[in-house]
Amino acid sequence: MDQRSRVIKPHLQSELPIISHGNGIYLYDKQGNQYIDGSSGAVTASIGHGVEEIIRAAVQQAENVSFVYRSQFTNQPAEDLALKLSEWAPGDLNWSFFVNSGSEATETAMKIAIQYWQEKGMSGKNKVLSRWMSYHGITLGALSMSGHILRRKRFNALLDQLPSVSAPHCYNCPLNQTYPSCQLACVHELEVAIQRIGPENIAGFIAEPIIGASGGAVVPPPGYYQAVRQICDRYEILFIADEVMTGMGRTGAKFAIDHWGVQPDIMALGKGLSAGYTPIAATLVSDRIIETIAAGSASIMAGHTFSANPQSAAVALAVIHYLERNNLVQQAQIKGDYLKDGLNRLKKKLPIIGDVRGMGLLQGVELMADHQSRKTFPLKAAVTQRVVQLAMEKGLIIYPAFGGLNGIAGDAFLVAPPLTIKQDELDLIIEIIEDVLLEVQQVCV
Ligand code: PLP
Repeated sequence: MDQRSRVIKPHLQSELPIISHGNGIYLYDKQGNQYIDGSSGAVTASIGHGVEEIIRAAVQQAENVSFVYRSQFTNQPAEDLALKLSEWAPGDLNWSFFVNSGSEATETAMKIAIQYWQEKGMSGKNKVLSRWMSYHGITLGALSMSGHILRRKRFNALLDQLPSVSAPHCYNCPLNQTYPSCQLACVHELEVAIQRIGPENIAGFIAEPIIGASGGAVVPPPGYYQAVRQICDRYEILFIADEVMTGMGRTGAKFAIDHWGVQPDIMALGKGLSAGYTPIAATLVSDRIIETIAAGSASIMAGHTFSANPQSAAVALAVIHYLERNNLVQQAQIKGDYLKDGLNRLKKKLPIIGDVRGMGLLQGVELMADHQSRKTFPLKAAVTQRVVQLAMEKGLIIYPAFGGLNGIAGDAFLVAPPLTIKQDELDLIIEIIEDVLLEVQQVCV
């Protein structure tokens, strides 16, 4: 047997470093190389690596019990976590359905939305509308809702629908309009789509409050979500906020949708829920939906063997306590502003940077071949991949968010370090990004 890695990796032909341990914002590989986790992995490790009290909580729960099956028992950590999430969540999102990944959380949201209308005798309402330039997960239901052409392409025959509306991306508006003279044409497009498809066929509308993996921290224009909420109410459609990437304090509010004071009917969480210490995700559901289902079939047709796993719930609960005790939601806001200022300084110096955007510690940088004319790089130039690779060689991990513009072209990356990062560490990140972009700019622009 040869010594090659047997783990199936994203790119079968390339080897990845083996990480031996992590500490704070740093990861270390077996060769002794140090990496700044400038993207918290996939925007996940939001309290940094190796936090002692999370490790203690995991061990303590393991000493009690690591697994019970959700159909046979509930357990105290899952109960406590659900209660804590109902305190964190806006409005009456008082119920938690626990799953293992963000994909499962959005797919469960889809299923609960459809079931809600069935219980009300409106079983025709079974489509979930979504936007282009979105990512809701890789399982088939979640992928059906995702407007990410590269990820859909291979499975199109199995995906039952395409997204129906454009993303609210003002820097590169897909509708070729300019805010505010556009009068939120992207929201009008949602209303037109609903009228065409027929509200009697639509269960919900799902959106990432700030577009992450497929766009690079795209923040919608003011008034967007308030208008979306009004339309959903007008046509009796549930609004599902996919907060898998943006939730749990990442953007400087508990949930990104809180920035607009809008109340979703269902919310999907993952990633930062456990800060990566264990796999757990959740679908939060409003009183109205749960009461309707309880009065009907009284059973939600979803769930997994590892749902509401006590080990994972105990870890997630410890992570939330850590966020609260260290005031990390507010810290994300303060440090995010500092990071954004630094990136904006780079934008003034480096023509390759077209746009800097985001909220809190979810910042995106969009790269342009010519930012005056907003000309993107050709796909084959693989600019995002070069930038991410070079950053890694210089000891910084950033997250690629390419394919945003029309689902194929467009180069962007996310800077989303742990919320525990210090100011001098943010300075170091900005310095390395400057180095990387200077180099790439020389070759590509
Ligand atoms: N939703 C959003 C907004 C995401 O960013 C992601 C992952 O990047 C997912 C869903 C899917 O989550 P997971 O990879 O945990 O299945």
